[in-house]
This record gives sequence, C-alpha cells and structure tokens, in this order.
Amino acid sequence: MSIEKFNSKKYKTSNNFEDIGNILDDGFIITNNDGIILVANKIAQELIGKNLINKNIFKLISNSDFLSLDFNVSNNDYDHIFVHELDDYLHRQLKVKIKKLNKNKALIVFSDLTLQRNLEKIRRDFVANVSHELRSPLTILSGFIETILLDQNIDKTSLNKFLNIMDEEAKRMNNLIDDILSLSKVESEEHILPSTVVSILDPINSVISTIEKSGLLKSNKITLIKKTDSLNIEGNYLEITQVFYNLIENGIKYGNQNSDVIVEIIQNDLNYLVVSVINEGEGIPEKYLDRITERFYRVDKARSRKIGGTGLGLAIVKHILIKHRAELKIESVPNEKTKFSVIFPLAKKKI
Ligand code: ADP
Repeated sequence: MSIEKFNSKKYKTSNNFEDIGNILDDGFIITNNDGIILVANKIAQELIGKNLINKNIFKLISNSDFLSLDFNVSNNDYDHIFVHELDDYLHRQLKVKIKKLNKNKALIVFSDLTLQRNLEKIRRDFVANVSHELRSPLTILSGFIETILLDQNIDKTSLNKFLNIMDEEAKRMNNLIDDILSLSKVESEEHILPSTVVSILDPINSVISTIEKSGLLKSNKITLIKKTDSLNIEGNYLEITQVFYNLIENGIKYGNQNSDVIVEIIQNDLNYLVVSVINEGEGIPEKYLDRITERFYRVDKARSRKIGGTGLGLAIVKHILIKHRAELKIESVPNEKTKFSVIFPLAKKKI
C-alpha cells in the first residue's frame, strides 16, 4: 500500500485496522459497543470461525468472564484478560485480551496458548524420561558396587562377571548422554538450512565402512545399490552421516542375523533423491509406525535395552531431516521387510 493511499482521507479506518490485523500472528478483532464484529483478521477466523464480519462476538465466545463484559462503558482504561478454552478436539486454549479503543470500538486479541502448553509438556516429559532412563543403569551400577564392597572374599569369576555388567551399564549411560546432546544440538540448529553440497555416497560409504569395522555384522553384509548418478544434496556431512549410521545400525540390530541390509539410492522424478535402508526382520506393526520417531519410544523396550538402544536414534534422524527439508517414510511388513526411505531434494548448486 502506498503512503499516499494510506494518508488519503478516503481510505477508511477499517482498512487501516485490516492492514494491522494482517501482519499480526495473533487473532485480531474490532467490534462496536454492541459486540458486532467490524474487522477480523485471518488468524481470528482460523481460531473462532469463518465469515465473522457483522456477527456478534458475544454469541461466539460463550465464556462467562466474557459475557459479563459491557463495551458501552466510556472508560478508556477498560482492559480485560482471560483464558478461553475452545470446544474443538484439541481443546485449544486462547488468551483473550480486550481493550476499548475509543468511545465506539473495542479491540479483542486472541493468542493461542496451545503451542506453548505443548512445548512445556514435551519439556516436562523429556526431563522425566531422561531421569528414568539414567536411573536404571545407575541403580544397577550402585547395586554391584555395594555387593563387591560388602563381600571382601568375592571370587575372581564373579568379580569379572560383575565388572563386565558394570562396564556395559556405564557405556549405556555414556551412549544415552551422547544421544541427548546430539538431539538437543540438532533441535537448536533446526532452523539453520545447510548450505554445503554433499554427494550422498560419501557419508553412506563412510557409515558402511565404520559399521563393517565395528563387528556389529554377524553372518550378513551391507549391500549398496546405486541406480542414479545424480547424487548431490544440500546438506551437512556429519549430520547426514549420523542419519545413515542410525538407520543402517537399526537395520542390523532389528534385522535377521543372516540377511543383508540393503542401501538403495534412486532418483525420484527430476528433483528428489531417495535413499532407502531395507532389512528383513520382525518389523514394526502398523500401529507403532507413527510413534517410533518420538524420543524414547520403543516397540519392545526390553529388547532395545538389551541390544544397547537408547530410544533416541530415530528422534535424532527425524530432526536432522527436518533441518534438511527431507522426508522420512517408514514401511514395514512384520516378519518380512522393513524399509526406511529418506527423500532429499536434489541440490540445485554444484559441489
Ligand atoms: P533404539 O535405540 O531403541 O534402537 P530408535 O529411535 O533407533 O531407538 O528406534 C526406535 C524403535 O523403533 C526401536 O526400539 C525399534 O522398536 C523400532 N525400530 C527401529 N528401526 C527398526 C527396524 N529396522 N526394524 C524393526 N524395528 C525398528
């Protein structure tokens, strides 16, 4: 809008209010003293309903705090705030602020408290989960320390057995702390788009050779199938390496001991590169597919613990992929194949 138009006398006040409303992230409504809506921005329509103009706000917000208000009072200091719960399936909570603008008009601003409330819940759950996950190895460690301290004549075989268990539990705590730190780093940098161009083969080859040397493979191997020569994506080398380490390691951990893990690289139309990690094994029942990328979510907790899982691997994958504007697709037929596919936009730039 030009300054001339803005200053023009013909330009109505409601247009000014509409412009203000449209740049706000909160719901914004102006009513007359009878509560008839004169201006409503898009967010207000999303929150309390469509086609709001000329409707009566007192009929839309059936909250006793709100219904007791009277916009006809002349006092300009008129200022009210209350929380209103919407009648939708999410039970979203709105903070509603009301202010008299002038003799004839009232301003009502709605902010959605749901996101803040959800983030708070995620934070609380995370702290509770971490404490719980750290407590189990710690309890085992202190149990064995106590046993060794109390029994001065403990035989060498038992002592060795105890020390090996303690070593495993200490490593578990270490892995957990490493994964928590990786997750929080990735989350805090989620908004920074990677700008370097990486050939997807480099991190994948590096992961395959690390895993081959680690002794994780039993009587199987990792087979790489490359069906395209367009391999460049915009990405962070170390983060992409972490994604495929976690996916291929899971393919081995949860796959049958004697069947290969396949890594397949294909191009999907002109713009996308799809890398799939496929294994045969007991798989993931459909009802869990939506949940397994949640932090600490495991289909079989005892099994994951036994094979050294932290329950954070796929959560880390998910957040790295959000940062790369890439998509994760999970398909599984229990007792047959499980396929994790990552769909990357191909790089527009060259290396
Ligand atoms: P974990 O440390 O437990 O492996 P992840 O976040 O990597 O944690 O995986 C979460 C859960 O998803 C695992 O506990 C397992 O139940 C399931 N899962 C992951 N990958 C596979 C796979 N390839 N086959 C079967 N189940 C899998």
